[in-house]
Amino acid sequence: MSDSHSIAIRQSVQTSVERPGDGLDRSLWARTAAPAPALPVLRGSHRAEVVVVGAGYTGLATALALIERGVQVAIVDAREPGFGASGRNGGQVIPVFKHEPQAIMARFGEEAGRDMIDMVMRSADDVFALIDKYGIACDAERTGWIQGARNAAGGQVLHRRCLAWRKVGADAQLLDADEIAQLSGTTHFRSGWLLGNAGSVNPLKYARGLASAAVGRGASLFVGSPVVRLESVDGAWRVATPEGELHARRVVLATNGYSTRLWPGLRESIVPLYSMQIATDPLPAALGASILPRRQTMTDDRHLVHYFRRDAAGRFVIGARGPFRPDPSAHDARRLIAMARRLYPQLDEVAFPFRWAGRVAMTPDFMPHLHRLAPGLTTALGFNGRGVAMTAAMGRVLAQACLDDGDRRLPYPVSALHPIPLHRLHRAGVQMMMSYYRLRDRLA
Ligand SMILES: Cc1cc2nc3c(=O)[nH]c(=O)nc-3n(C[C@H](O)[C@H](O)[C@H](O)COP(=O)(O)OP(=O)(O)OC[C@H]3O[C@@H](n4cnc5c(N)ncnc54)[C@H](O)[C@@H]3O)c2cc1C
Repeated sequence: MSDSHSIAIRQSVQTSVERPGDGLDRSLWARTAAPAPALPVLRGSHRAEVVVVGAGYTGLATALALIERGVQVAIVDAREPGFGASGRNGGQVIPVFKHEPQAIMARFGEEAGRDMIDMVMRSADDVFALIDKYGIACDAERTGWIQGARNAAGGQVLHRRCLAWRKVGADAQLLDADEIAQLSGTTHFRSGWLLGNAGSVNPLKYARGLASAAVGRGASLFVGSPVVRLESVDGAWRVATPEGELHARRVVLATNGYSTRLWPGLRESIVPLYSMQIATDPLPAALGASILPRRQTMTDDRHLVHYFRRDAAGRFVIGARGPFRPDPSAHDARRLIAMARRLYPQLDEVAFPFRWAGRVAMTPDFMPHLHRLAPGLTTALGFNGRGVAMTAAMGRVLAQACLDDGDRRLPYPVSALHPIPLHRLHRAGVQMMMSYYRLRDRLA
């Protein structure tokens, strides 16, 4: 990087790029994480070996994996590290796919399927290894994840799921009614399963920690710099933002649910759903001890799932599918508050001062996708609400994919980009699906 670059850094440091309507003013994570590191806006023209677009977990894990291989990386984000789903999520580190292992092997074949299963099962190790290696203070805990069934039919599904993952080596344990009541602190569930090597993080602290690690090891990270144009010029990529440009032979797009029209069909290959969360203030000790006393994180077995946990300060945090906006209203939060109190009647008098939302990138097959979009241009997206763990593993694969030009077999299959037909109608479609699933969940 040139001298003019360091001048630009000094002239334009930003510590946070929060704006009204972002939905971050009532976010628990935004209110409790240390301020974002001071970072520059991209100005002028610069070169890097690899440019990573998007400073969420995917982009940052990829950048760190590249740096570990001695590659010079520039990262550019429209807003700031963790502005997208990575700073807004539930922080549940869950190292399994939504599909069962047999379904993965049936679809992708024994060898590729086994690689994918190994990759996802090791993904929580990858997260906690990054946290250890880079000394990231993000309230990381490895207490396990529980999925609970509300009735006998749901119990059978989870029973099968638990045995299927255990068969391929996962640390999975069946829970009967008494066991799940003891661990969860609610009698809402008839049975369930516990994935022992899962865990939790404060998501925004983790994202900012990854960003600091990347910058500390030599990456250039530009904030407030939306990439508005991507073009291939004489075998190299020109990555243009409103005030500057980066040139590199290789580019990784890590924009997931916040993808714009930067590359034809990319945004249309996922459906960005909003998920919203609410949180209490720290609960009094006795009340707190009655909810998830061993601090596992939890998900129910609804089609429109509820996910919940306690944070490091003892707040209760619960989330579910939300309306199509980043700043949910008090009215939007009512259904979720009612659910929290159904699960835990002891929260009846407790207020929920925090509420926020973010985009979850869903794919039609509920699997993440890795694409080579053009020579030197790679992406992975569509983590389907399970990206906290998987992005740490995918970052390594993306780093490998972006450097080797397709000549080596990867632990995750590269697929062709498939824009979803009639994508512009996705909101109406999603709303219909949500009404249908809500009805099925009520009838179950
Ligand atoms: C409310 C919520 C709860 C969730 N809970 C969980 C959970 O508990 N467990 C779990 O495993 N997963 C969860 N997820 C999913 C998880 O957060 C994501 O899978 C993960 O964060 C994806 O990371 P990412 O880096 O791919 O994308 P993101 O974090 O969304 O990052 C994309 C980045 O790209 C940037 N960008 C976009 N376009 C441009 C451009 N043109 N130029 C420059 N920058 C650009 C954005 O500003 C953004 O910072 C949840 C998601 C949400 C929203």
